[in-house]
Amino acid sequence: MMTDKIRDPENLNAQELDAIYAISRVVTRASELDASLDEIIGIARTVFIFDNVVLYVHEDADSLEPSYARAIGRGRNSEADLAWGEPIANDVIKTRKIVVRQEITGDFTKDRMKDRYFLGLPLIAGDQYIGALVFVRYGGPQFTPEHTHLAEYIAGHIAQLYEHGNLVTQLSRLEAERQLERLQDDFVATVSHELRTPLGFIKGYATSLLREDADWDEETRREFLTIIDEETDRLRELIDNLLDSSRLQSGTLRMEFQPVRIDTMLKDLTLRGKTFDKNLYIEVDLQTSPLKVRADPTRLAQVFDNLLSNAIKYAPGSTVNITLNTQDDHAHIQFSDQGPGIPSQDLPNIFTRFFRVPNQNPSVRGTGLGLFICRRIINAHDGEITAESKYGEGTTFHIYLPIMNHSSGEDSN
Ligand code: ADP
Repeated sequence: MMTDKIRDPENLNAQELDAIYAISRVVTRASELDASLDEIIGIARTVFIFDNVVLYVHEDADSLEPSYARAIGRGRNSEADLAWGEPIANDVIKTRKIVVRQEITGDFTKDRMKDRYFLGLPLIAGDQYIGALVFVRYGGPQFTPEHTHLAEYIAGHIAQLYEHGNLVTQLSRLEAERQLERLQDDFVATVSHELRTPLGFIKGYATSLLREDADWDEETRREFLTIIDEETDRLRELIDNLLDSSRLQSGTLRMEFQPVRIDTMLKDLTLRGKTFDKNLYIEVDLQTSPLKVRADPTRLAQVFDNLLSNAIKYAPGSTVNITLNTQDDHAHIQFSDQGPGIPSQDLPNIFTRFFRVPNQNPSVRGTGLGLFICRRIINAHDGEITAESKYGEGTTFHIYLPIMNHSSGEDSN
């Protein structure tokens, strides 16, 4: 770090020292680079006179980019005409030394903006050569050695700020890469596990049925075939989900929109659910019907199926309440259960691809793709899907979809 390179502040007065300490505090809690620079420049202005300040960053061997510039004093109203001290910055970079220069560009007795004083300082943090900091004063006073000395502290801290910023960026990039790797590893682990389980059943029961040394009675044969049938469905569902998810990611999932009666769809869903499981208790409350939305019926049914099957999976034995209402110009559909709920720290993640609440019953199978797909589909309908849950009390999913305008053409049932 630069700290050891910043000389003892022996020649600074009390006010200057206070300012430098204030600047160093900005550096240590630095978050956003430009905001921190603004703050440092604001503090520096209380003890150090300048009109312009420019920070040039040494991008590579031959390029010098202004990465931050502020006109504070006299130059503020005529920014277009300002000299930003690029030649001075170039000299600083070349020599790696402080450069002090005066430039007279016309009759400065009439226009003091034409009498310019530049102070260029190298920005070095550790062994990293960051660039140059240039201060400009219009019409003086000229930069004395004391001024330069004070400016060195400011430059030193700004260099630290950059080093700190780079470090943070590098760390967050590393963290993001690690996160991605972790997600990919989790993905491969989850998907291979999920594919293997049904495949294992199918292979095992098919092999058993094919054994020549075994004589299965009719009931056992049917049982084995039913398992093979169900596991094949599960495998197909899983592959469909994976395909949907990657199409949604790449934006290639096509939607076929048409006017759809949402109350009818919810009634159908209930019937389907009850046929699937006679013990399933669903309560439907369609306060507003008929109600039309513009939707892709297959995709919307997929969302409803998913929410119902999640309630069955994660809240076994609970009644599922489905309600339809309107809110402003939106249809508001709710799926509620009185199951175990979702811990509050996990709730914000449930729509994330591959996310599953940790430590839940391992016999409940899933990939963490369902809700991700639901959200993408609802968003493609210009709608919104959210979840609220009280751990131990149950979960409610809310879907909002724009109601179709009566005058918007086609009709359907
Ligand atoms: P999957 O069911 O394949 O794991 P989903 O994306 O459908 O994936 O759901 C993500 C996670 O959200 C589930 O793993 C589960 O932990 C949680 N979850 C979803 N619905 C409910 C619910 N009704 N009650 C409790 N937890 C739920």
